[in-house]
Amino acid sequence: MAIVNGNYANLKESYLFADIANKVAAYAKANQDKKIIRMGIGDVTLPLAPVVVEAMAKAVAEMGVKETFRGYGPEQGYDFLREAIAAYYQSFGVSVDAKEIFVSDGAKSDCGNITDIFSNANTILIPDPVYPVYLDTNIMCGRKVIYMEGNPENGFLPMPPKDVKADIIYLCSPNNPTGAVYTKEQLEAWVAYAKANDSVILYDAAYESFVVDPTVPRSIFAIEGAKDCAIELCSMSKTAGFTGTRCGYTVVPLGLVRKNEDGVEMNLNKMWLRRQTTKFNGVPYITQRGAEAAFSPEGVKQCKEMVAYYLENARILVEAFNKLGFTFFGGVHSPYIWLQCPNGLGSWEFFDLLLEKFAIVGTPGVGFGKCGEGYFRLTGFGSHEDTIEAVNRLVEGFGK
Ligand SMILES: *Cc1c(COP(=O)(O)O)cnc(C)c1O
Repeated sequence: MAIVNGNYANLKESYLFADIANKVAAYAKANQDKKIIRMGIGDVTLPLAPVVVEAMAKAVAEMGVKETFRGYGPEQGYDFLREAIAAYYQSFGVSVDAKEIFVSDGAKSDCGNITDIFSNANTILIPDPVYPVYLDTNIMCGRKVIYMEGNPENGFLPMPPKDVKADIIYLCSPNNPTGAVYTKEQLEAWVAYAKANDSVILYDAAYESFVVDPTVPRSIFAIEGAKDCAIELCSMSKTAGFTGTRCGYTVVPLGLVRKNEDGVEMNLNKMWLRRQTTKFNGVPYITQRGAEAAFSPEGVKQCKEMVAYYLENARILVEAFNKLGFTFFGGVHSPYIWLQCPNGLGSWEFFDLLLEKFAIVGTPGVGFGKCGEGYFRLTGFGSHEDTIEAVNRLVEGFGK
């Protein structure tokens, strides 16, 4: 008799994006003259950088010629890409060995797969609100999850709890959905907590290239001692427009060790290598050549221009909400603005108001966790034109 994983019954159904789509479709049908502006997108909209396209086209051509054709590649990624990523880290002052870098098809997969190398007996600490993948992947393993509350008092940047010893800690900075970023001092406190408790921090740096202040860490490994207690998940999705192209990387320090249930010390880099070589067969050569190009000096420049475009949209939103006197977080080192719904409205009430009155679509904050109730996520991933038009509608409507 086949027995299924009953933990799946403990997952909360998420109707967030389906509910949004239904409401928007109904509104569009009833208001065919109105131009709907979508400010809820968590996906990039600009095309791939020209150097990336060129490198991928060249790789496609190589695949069509016997002498340069490639079959299976190394599961952990080609050396040319791992070395390019290590050099990229070095460009902002962080030392990572190419052997610590594992190339993958994205941070979401790694986020789910990394649960393989940890015992299900671990207690997991997860911020609320946050990217929902951390919670659901751990529920699927039946693990005990403790939430740490994000709120206006802590700027949606929860700090280590005094009375809880968690084994695995998820941190996301710059944060999705709040746009909040941890300072160096705050991350030092997290590293100290992890070392004191022999915990491991899983640090999601998917938005690292949106950080504009050089004193704000772009990697957990900018913190002394982090190599003894952290794994970093990173993605080219938002930084290089790879949401549909699929490439990410995970950094597992060579010296990171923890004990198993019998007290025997094991090396996490070796475990992850074994996990990947057993269950994953690598990212396409063509994609890896595109990724390599994104990390070249010209590629970094072209990708920075895309990020700057999204950040300019975020700045336009920030300026408008300052003018309106609204309370919000993020929008500086992040494409996300986390707005406190005005007049004490709930997330969905504000969603309905924005849609009905302004034909603007955003994401109800409650979709990212209980503490997101009363908040709303707007993004800078749209066009300048749409962002400006949305802001004009809002300033005119709420400014009165
Ligand atoms: C978009 C995003 C990712 C990226 O996932 P990919 O699978 O690489 O596209 C990871 N973490 C967060 C917080 C994100 O918002």
